Amino acid sequence: RGLEVHFPIRSAMLRRRIGTVRAVDGVDLEVARGETLALVGESGCGKTTTGKSILRLIEPTGGSIRFAGEEIARHPPARLAPFRRRMQIVFQDPYASLNPRMTVGGILAAPFEIHRIGDAKDRAERVAALLRTVGLPPEAARRYPHEFSGGQRQRIGIARALALEPELVIGDEPVSALDVSIQAQIINLMKRLQAELGLAYIMISHNLAVVSHVADRVAVMYLGRVVETAPREALFFDARHPYTQALLSAVPEPVPGRRRARQVPQGDVPSPANPPPGCHFHPRCPLAIARCAQEAPAPRIVAPGHAVACHLVSP
Ligand code: SF4
Repeated sequence: RGLEVHFPIRSAMLRRRIGTVRAVDGVDLEVARGETLALVGESGCGKTTTGKSILRLIEPTGGSIRFAGEEIARHPPARLAPFRRRMQIVFQDPYASLNPRMTVGGILAAPFEIHRIGDAKDRAERVAALLRTVGLPPEAARRYPHEFSGGQRQRIGIARALALEPELVIGDEPVSALDVSIQAQIINLMKRLQAELGLAYIMISHNLAVVSHVADRVAVMYLGRVVETAPREALFFDARHPYTQALLSAVPEPVPGRRRARQVPQGDVPSPANPPPGCHFHPRCPLAIARCAQEAPAPRIVAPGHAVACHLVSP
Protein backbone atom coordinates (compact mmCIF):
# COMPACT_ATOMS: atom_id res chain seq x y z
CA ARG A 1 0.00 0.00 0.00
CA GLY A 2 1.37 3.39 -0.99
CA LEU A 3 4.72 1.81 -1.91
CA GLU A 4 7.41 4.37 -2.71
CA VAL A 5 10.97 4.12 -3.95
CA HIS A 6 12.47 7.56 -4.29
CA PHE A 7 16.14 7.93 -5.22
CA PRO A 8 18.01 11.14 -4.43
CA ILE A 9 19.86 12.86 -7.28
CA ARG A 10 23.07 14.37 -5.95
CA SER A 11 25.40 16.82 -7.64
CA ALA A 12 29.07 15.98 -7.05
CA MET A 13 29.98 19.52 -8.02
CA LEU A 14 27.45 21.25 -5.77
CA ARG A 15 27.82 18.55 -3.08
CA ARG A 16 24.12 18.49 -2.38
CA ARG A 17 20.90 16.82 -3.34
CA ILE A 18 19.42 18.47 -6.42
CA GLY A 19 16.34 16.36 -7.00
CA THR A 20 14.47 13.08 -6.56
CA VAL A 21 13.70 10.22 -8.93
CA ARG A 22 10.25 8.93 -8.04
CA ALA A 23 10.73 5.46 -9.50
CA VAL A 24 7.78 4.02 -7.55
CA ASP A 25 5.34 6.65 -6.37
CA GLY A 26 2.51 5.34 -4.23
CA VAL A 27 1.75 1.91 -5.70
CA ASP A 28 -1.11 -0.23 -4.35
CA LEU A 29 -1.08 -3.90 -5.38
CA GLU A 30 -2.28 -7.19 -3.99
CA VAL A 31 -1.79 -10.77 -5.07
CA ALA A 32 -3.62 -13.78 -3.67
CA ARG A 33 -2.27 -17.27 -3.05
CA GLY A 34 -2.10 -19.22 -6.32
CA GLU A 35 -2.84 -16.14 -8.42
CA THR A 36 -0.84 -14.44 -11.18
CA LEU A 37 -0.77 -10.66 -11.13
CA ALA A 38 0.91 -9.19 -14.20
CA LEU A 39 2.64 -5.83 -13.88
CA VAL A 40 2.91 -4.18 -17.29
CA GLY A 41 4.09 -0.91 -18.81
CA GLU A 42 6.82 0.57 -20.98
CA SER A 43 10.52 0.54 -20.04
CA GLY A 44 11.25 2.97 -17.24
CA CYS A 45 7.75 2.92 -15.75
CA GLY A 46 8.94 1.40 -12.46
CA LYS A 47 7.85 -2.25 -12.87
CA THR A 48 11.15 -3.87 -11.97
CA THR A 49 11.84 -1.44 -9.12
CA THR A 50 8.38 -2.23 -7.74
CA GLY A 51 9.04 -5.97 -7.93
CA LYS A 52 12.47 -5.76 -6.32
CA SER A 53 11.24 -3.42 -3.57
CA ILE A 54 8.47 -5.89 -2.66
CA LEU A 55 11.27 -8.39 -2.00
CA ARG A 56 13.36 -5.67 -0.29
CA LEU A 57 16.16 -6.20 -2.84
CA ILE A 58 15.72 -2.45 -3.30
CA GLU A 59 14.74 -0.66 -0.10
CA PRO A 60 11.37 1.10 -0.26
CA THR A 61 11.42 4.69 0.99
CA GLY A 62 7.76 4.71 1.97
CA GLY A 63 4.58 2.71 2.16
CA SER A 64 3.63 -0.70 3.48
CA ILE A 65 4.41 -4.29 2.37
CA ARG A 66 2.30 -6.94 4.05
CA PHE A 67 3.11 -10.60 3.45
CA ALA A 68 0.67 -13.16 4.86
CA GLY A 69 -0.61 -10.48 7.22
CA GLU A 70 2.77 -9.31 8.54
CA GLU A 71 4.22 -5.89 7.83
CA ILE A 72 7.75 -6.40 6.45
CA ALA A 73 8.61 -3.04 4.89
CA ARG A 74 10.82 -2.03 7.79
CA HIS A 75 11.96 -5.40 9.13
CA PRO A 76 15.72 -5.49 9.86
CA PRO A 77 17.64 -8.15 7.86
CA ALA A 78 17.53 -10.76 10.64
CA ARG A 79 13.73 -10.61 10.84
CA LEU A 80 13.47 -10.57 7.06
CA ALA A 81 15.31 -13.88 6.57
CA PRO A 82 12.25 -16.16 7.10
CA PHE A 83 10.33 -14.11 4.53
CA ARG A 84 13.14 -14.33 2.00
CA ARG A 85 12.52 -18.10 1.92
CA ARG A 86 8.89 -17.51 1.10
CA MET A 87 9.40 -14.84 -1.61
CA GLN A 88 11.76 -15.45 -4.52
CA ILE A 89 12.60 -13.95 -7.91
CA VAL A 90 13.38 -15.21 -11.40
CA PHE A 91 15.57 -12.65 -13.13
CA GLN A 92 15.27 -11.40 -16.67
CA ASP A 93 18.63 -12.41 -18.04
CA PRO A 94 19.51 -16.11 -17.64
CA TYR A 95 22.97 -15.32 -19.05
CA ALA A 96 23.84 -12.82 -16.30
CA SER A 97 21.97 -14.19 -13.29
CA LEU A 98 23.90 -17.46 -12.88
CA ASN A 99 27.46 -17.40 -11.53
CA PRO A 100 29.64 -18.72 -14.40
CA ARG A 101 32.27 -20.02 -11.96
CA MET A 102 29.88 -22.27 -10.08
CA THR A 103 28.46 -25.58 -11.20
CA VAL A 104 24.70 -25.79 -11.51
CA GLY A 105 24.73 -28.07 -8.46
CA GLY A 106 26.60 -25.41 -6.49
CA ILE A 107 24.19 -22.69 -7.60
CA LEU A 108 21.13 -24.72 -6.61
CA ALA A 109 22.64 -25.89 -3.30
CA ALA A 110 23.52 -22.32 -2.24
CA PRO A 111 20.05 -21.49 -0.87
CA PHE A 112 20.18 -24.62 1.34
CA GLU A 113 23.66 -23.65 2.58
CA ILE A 114 22.63 -20.06 3.30
CA HIS A 115 19.58 -21.22 5.25
CA ARG A 116 21.44 -24.17 6.82
CA ILE A 117 19.10 -26.80 5.44
CA GLY A 118 20.23 -30.45 5.33
CA ASP A 119 23.70 -32.00 5.01
CA ALA A 120 25.71 -32.48 1.81
CA LYS A 121 23.91 -35.72 0.83
CA ASP A 122 20.50 -34.25 1.51
CA ARG A 123 21.33 -31.11 -0.49
CA ALA A 124 22.51 -33.19 -3.46
CA GLU A 125 19.20 -35.08 -3.42
CA ARG A 126 17.27 -31.81 -3.23
CA VAL A 127 19.27 -30.41 -6.18
CA ALA A 128 18.52 -33.53 -8.28
CA ALA A 129 14.81 -33.22 -7.44
CA LEU A 130 14.79 -29.52 -8.37
CA LEU A 131 16.42 -30.27 -11.73
CA ARG A 132 13.83 -32.95 -12.46
CA THR A 133 11.05 -30.52 -11.49
CA VAL A 134 12.15 -28.06 -14.17
CA GLY A 135 12.71 -30.76 -16.82
CA LEU A 136 16.51 -31.13 -16.61
CA PRO A 137 18.44 -34.35 -15.87
CA PRO A 138 20.12 -34.67 -12.45
CA GLU A 139 23.50 -34.94 -14.24
CA ALA A 140 23.15 -31.24 -15.13
CA ALA A 141 24.33 -30.50 -11.57
CA ARG A 142 27.93 -31.28 -12.56
CA ARG A 143 27.99 -28.84 -15.47
CA TYR A 144 28.50 -25.06 -15.70
CA PRO A 145 25.94 -22.47 -16.84
CA HIS A 146 27.76 -21.75 -20.13
CA GLU A 147 27.15 -25.35 -21.21
CA PHE A 148 23.39 -24.71 -21.38
CA SER A 149 21.11 -22.88 -23.81
CA GLY A 150 19.21 -19.75 -22.76
CA GLY A 151 16.02 -21.70 -22.13
CA GLN A 152 17.85 -24.31 -20.07
CA ARG A 153 19.54 -21.56 -18.05
CA GLN A 154 16.19 -20.00 -17.29
CA ARG A 155 14.99 -23.43 -16.11
CA ILE A 156 17.97 -23.40 -13.72
CA GLY A 157 16.99 -19.89 -12.59
CA ILE A 158 13.46 -21.13 -11.91
CA ALA A 159 14.82 -24.16 -10.02
CA ARG A 160 16.90 -21.82 -7.84
CA ALA A 161 13.83 -19.70 -7.13
CA LEU A 162 11.88 -22.82 -6.10
CA ALA A 163 14.61 -24.32 -3.90
CA LEU A 164 13.22 -22.94 -0.64
CA GLU A 165 9.60 -23.74 -1.52
CA PRO A 166 8.40 -20.12 -1.77
CA GLU A 167 4.78 -19.00 -1.80
CA LEU A 168 5.40 -15.94 -3.99
CA VAL A 169 7.66 -15.78 -7.04
CA ILE A 170 8.32 -12.53 -8.86
CA GLY A 171 9.17 -13.07 -12.51
CA ASP A 172 11.11 -10.05 -13.76
CA GLU A 173 10.55 -10.35 -17.52
CA PRO A 174 11.51 -14.04 -17.25
CA VAL A 175 11.20 -14.81 -20.96
CA SER A 176 12.08 -11.54 -22.67
CA ALA A 177 15.74 -12.51 -23.18
CA LEU A 178 14.80 -15.85 -24.80
CA ASP A 179 14.03 -16.83 -28.38
CA VAL A 180 10.32 -16.66 -29.13
CA SER A 181 10.32 -20.41 -29.79
CA ILE A 182 11.58 -21.04 -26.24
CA GLN A 183 9.36 -18.49 -24.49
CA ALA A 184 6.26 -20.68 -24.64
CA GLN A 185 8.14 -23.61 -23.07
CA ILE A 186 9.23 -21.51 -20.10
CA ILE A 187 5.80 -19.91 -19.68
CA ASN A 188 4.16 -23.33 -19.76
CA LEU A 189 6.70 -24.65 -17.24
CA MET A 190 5.94 -21.75 -14.89
CA LYS A 191 2.19 -22.31 -15.26
CA ARG A 192 2.57 -26.03 -14.52
CA LEU A 193 4.68 -25.34 -11.45
CA GLN A 194 2.16 -22.79 -10.24
CA ALA A 195 -0.65 -25.33 -10.50
CA GLU A 196 1.40 -28.07 -8.80
CA LEU A 197 2.88 -25.93 -6.02
CA GLY A 198 0.14 -23.34 -5.47
CA LEU A 199 2.53 -20.47 -6.18
CA ALA A 200 1.50 -16.84 -6.43
CA TYR A 201 3.26 -14.97 -9.23
CA ILE A 202 3.86 -11.31 -9.84
CA MET A 203 4.83 -11.40 -13.49
CA ILE A 204 6.60 -8.27 -14.70
CA SER A 205 6.37 -7.90 -18.46
CA HIS A 206 6.15 -5.37 -21.25
CA ASN A 207 4.86 -8.15 -23.54
CA LEU A 208 1.07 -8.10 -23.54
CA ALA A 209 0.88 -11.29 -25.58
CA VAL A 210 2.69 -13.10 -22.76
CA VAL A 211 0.49 -11.39 -20.18
CA SER A 212 -2.65 -12.51 -21.97
CA HIS A 213 -1.50 -16.12 -21.48
CA VAL A 214 -0.44 -16.02 -17.86
CA ALA A 215 -2.29 -13.33 -15.92
CA ASP A 216 -5.36 -13.64 -13.73
CA ARG A 217 -5.25 -9.91 -13.08
CA VAL A 218 -3.22 -7.11 -14.63
CA ALA A 219 -1.88 -3.86 -13.18
CA VAL A 220 -0.69 -1.22 -15.66
CA MET A 221 2.05 1.15 -14.51
CA TYR A 222 3.02 4.51 -15.89
CA LEU A 223 5.82 6.64 -14.44
CA GLY A 224 5.83 5.00 -11.04
CA ARG A 225 2.05 4.84 -10.58
CA VAL A 226 -0.58 2.18 -11.24
CA VAL A 227 -3.09 3.65 -13.70
CA GLU A 228 -5.39 0.65 -14.20
CA THR A 229 -5.96 -2.68 -12.46
CA ALA A 230 -8.35 -5.24 -13.87
CA PRO A 231 -9.07 -8.93 -14.31
CA ARG A 232 -7.37 -10.16 -17.49
CA GLU A 233 -10.51 -10.29 -19.65
CA ALA A 234 -11.60 -6.81 -18.58
CA LEU A 235 -8.18 -5.40 -19.33
CA PHE A 236 -7.94 -6.87 -22.81
CA PHE A 237 -11.56 -6.41 -23.83
CA ASP A 238 -12.63 -3.31 -21.89
CA ALA A 239 -9.51 -1.27 -21.06
CA ARG A 240 -10.66 2.11 -19.78
CA HIS A 241 -7.47 4.11 -19.22
CA PRO A 242 -6.16 5.94 -22.31
CA TYR A 243 -2.64 4.68 -21.59
CA THR A 244 -3.76 1.04 -21.38
CA GLN A 245 -5.73 1.48 -24.59
CA ALA A 246 -2.66 2.94 -26.28
CA LEU A 247 -0.45 0.09 -25.03
CA LEU A 248 -2.90 -2.47 -26.39
CA SER A 249 -2.99 -0.72 -29.76
CA ALA A 250 0.79 -1.18 -30.04
CA VAL A 251 0.42 -4.98 -29.96
CA PRO A 252 -0.67 -6.90 -33.06
CA GLU A 253 -3.97 -8.30 -31.75
CA PRO A 254 -2.82 -10.39 -28.75
CA VAL A 255 -6.44 -11.29 -28.11
CA PRO A 256 -8.73 -11.61 -31.14
CA GLY A 257 -11.96 -9.66 -30.83
CA ARG A 258 -10.87 -7.22 -28.15
CA ARG A 259 -12.11 -3.65 -28.24
CA ARG A 260 -10.15 -1.57 -30.78
CA ALA A 261 -7.76 0.73 -29.07
CA ARG A 262 -7.23 4.37 -29.78
CA GLN A 263 -3.62 4.88 -30.77
CA VAL A 264 -0.03 4.11 -29.92
CA PRO A 265 1.32 6.43 -27.18
CA GLN A 266 3.11 9.38 -28.72
CA GLY A 267 6.68 10.24 -27.71
CA ASP A 268 8.85 8.78 -24.98
CA VAL A 269 8.04 8.18 -21.33
CA PRO A 270 9.12 11.38 -19.50
CA SER A 271 11.88 11.12 -16.91
CA PRO A 272 10.74 10.03 -13.42
CA ALA A 273 13.20 12.69 -12.16
CA ASN A 274 10.97 15.34 -13.62
CA PRO A 275 7.49 13.88 -14.11
CA PRO A 276 4.72 16.05 -15.55
CA PRO A 277 2.39 17.51 -12.91
CA GLY A 278 -1.14 16.23 -12.42
CA CYS A 279 -1.77 13.08 -14.42
CA HIS A 280 1.71 11.97 -15.49
CA PHE A 281 0.27 10.80 -18.82
CA HIS A 282 -1.24 14.14 -19.83
CA PRO A 283 1.51 15.29 -22.29
CA ARG A 284 0.93 12.10 -24.32
CA CYS A 285 -2.79 11.66 -23.77
CA PRO A 286 -5.10 12.35 -26.72
CA LEU A 287 -8.01 13.07 -24.34
CA ALA A 288 -6.28 15.40 -21.88
CA ILE A 289 -8.24 18.35 -20.51
CA ALA A 290 -7.00 21.32 -18.50
CA ARG A 291 -7.64 19.58 -15.17
CA CYS A 292 -5.29 16.73 -16.15
CA ALA A 293 -2.20 18.97 -15.91
CA GLN A 294 -3.16 20.20 -12.45
CA GLU A 295 -4.59 17.29 -10.49
CA ALA A 296 -3.50 13.66 -10.24
CA PRO A 297 -6.52 11.39 -10.72
CA ALA A 298 -7.36 8.99 -7.89
CA PRO A 299 -8.25 5.38 -8.80
CA ARG A 300 -11.98 4.83 -9.29
CA ILE A 301 -13.73 1.47 -9.22
CA VAL A 302 -15.53 0.99 -12.55
CA ALA A 303 -16.48 -2.69 -12.12
CA PRO A 304 -15.69 -5.42 -9.59
CA GLY A 305 -11.90 -5.68 -9.37
CA HIS A 306 -11.44 -3.00 -12.05
CA ALA A 307 -9.96 0.37 -10.99
CA VAL A 308 -8.91 3.22 -13.27
CA ALA A 309 -7.03 6.43 -12.44
CA CYS A 310 -8.35 8.92 -15.00
CA HIS A 311 -10.45 12.06 -14.60
CA LEU A 312 -12.63 11.12 -17.58
CA VAL A 313 -13.56 7.65 -16.39
CA SER A 314 -16.68 7.21 -14.32
CA PRO A 315 -18.16 4.03 -12.85
FE1 SF4 B 1 -5.65 11.44 -20.09
FE2 SF4 B 1 -6.50 13.18 -18.29
FE3 SF4 B 1 -7.22 10.65 -18.08
FE4 SF4 B 1 -4.70 11.40 -17.59
S1 SF4 B 1 -6.53 11.97 -16.41
S2 SF4 B 1 -5.35 9.66 -18.77
S3 SF4 B 1 -4.44 13.00 -19.11
S4 SF4 B 1 -7.77 12.07 -19.74
